[in-house]
Amino acid sequence: MAVVIRTADYGDNDKMVTLLTRDYGRMSARIKGCKKPASKLFSAASLFCCGDYVFYEKNGRYGVKGCAIRRTFFGLQSDYDAYAAACLIAEAVDKVAQEDDVPSGLFTLTVNALYALDTGAAPALTVVCYFLQRLLHIEGVYPSFGVCAACGGGPPLVRFSAEHGGALCKMCAKGAAGIPVDDEFRDAVWGLARVSELGL
Ligand SMILES: [Zn+2]
Repeated sequence: MAVVIRTADYGDNDKMVTLLTRDYGRMSARIKGCKKPASKLFSAASLFCCGDYVFYEKNGRYGVKGCAIRRTFFGLQSDYDAYAAACLIAEAVDKVAQEDDVPSGLFTLTVNALYALDTGAAPALTVVCYFLQRLLHIEGVYPSFGVCAACGGGPPLVRFSAEHGGALCKMCAKGAAGIPVDDEFRDAVWGLARVSELGL
C-alpha cells in the first residue's frame, strides 16, 4: 500500500510520482499515459491518492502498472486550509522518508492525518500540529520539556535551546542561546500535548 506525496509531469502523457509505501519506504515511479483522462491510472497518479500500487522494474527504475485505489482524498481539493495542510504534510514526509527505511508508524500517521483533513474531523491547524509532533517522536528528535535537556535536572526550566534539544534549567541556561520559556511558550507546549489526545 502507498500514498502519493509528490507528482511531476513527465513528457506529454506521463507523470513521475513519489510514493510513501507502507513496507518499502519512499519510492519514485513513472506512470505512463496517466495524463489522458481515459487512462485507468489517471486518479492513481494524483497527489495524495492512496492505494495498492503494482510496480514493474526496468533498468533499475520503477513504473506503475496497476493500482487498486483505497481513497483519493479528492475532498481536499475543495478546502483551501485542508489542502495547504495536506501539502505541508506531504512535503515533510518527502523530506524525512528514506528509500527502504520506513520508521514504524509513519505510513499510518500520514494516511490518518490526510483522512482527518479530508473528512474535516479536526481543524487543519490542529491536524498539522499533531502530525509534526508525532513525526518528531517517530524520528526520535522530539525536544525535552519535562527535564533539563543538558543536565537532566528538574524544573524550573527557563530557556529553550534548539542546540540542546529542549528546555534548560537556570544553571545550564547561563550563557546559552535560545528562547526564554515564558507563559506563552508553556501554553504552546501544553497545546501540543493536548492535540496528541486526537489519537490519529
Ligand atoms: Zn540543567
